[in-house]
Amino acid sequence: MPDNSNKIVALEKFNRFLESKGCRKTPERKAILEAAISIDGHFDVDILYNMLLDSPYKVVKTTIYSNLELLIECGILRKHIFTNHAEYERIDAKNQHIHLICNVCGKVKDAKDLELMRYLKSKKFSAFNAEVFSMSVYGICNNCARKIKKQQKMEEILKETTVEKAKKENKLKKNK
Ligand SMILES: [Zn+2]
Ligand SMILES: [Zn+2]
Repeated sequence: MPDNSNKIVALEKFNRFLESKGCRKTPERKAILEAAISIDGHFDVDILYNMLLDSPYKVVKTTIYSNLELLIECGILRKHIFTNHAEYERIDAKNQHIHLICNVCGKVKDAKDLELMRYLKSKKFSAFNAEVFSMSVYGICNNCARKIKKQQKMEEILKETTVEKAKKENKLKKNK
């Protein structure tokens, strides 16, 4: 969770942005911002919606969606599309990380690689100023790998027993 000064900075930034866009500053908007930036790591609309259920404002999902888009435009949040699922996260220059995404269950894990981050930060692109990096690595998580291995073993056992059974039946036929 960001400390209080970060929260105030984010709120001021959001208020300035809303003014520049001619949007109203509403207590719902403030509640959505506060909930969104209090989360460490990734979240989706459902998580935020559940967090706001206890708030005194009736915030519907469409309001959350539209405000998340404003927070992205304002530079407070970042949106990722992980295997068809949208997830959001607070932009934090101090917490740059790579995403490890499982192709089977879709779980996303954050991983740090300081060497890689240093390299990316030092990288110069022609006629382009890089601000933030986003890197995704796709693969299979340990949990899914274990499950796949188990399933393969089961299939092998099943195959072996069917072969054995066929052999026995053949023998019986020959003996007849
Ligand atoms: Zn997985
Ligand atoms: Zn992340």
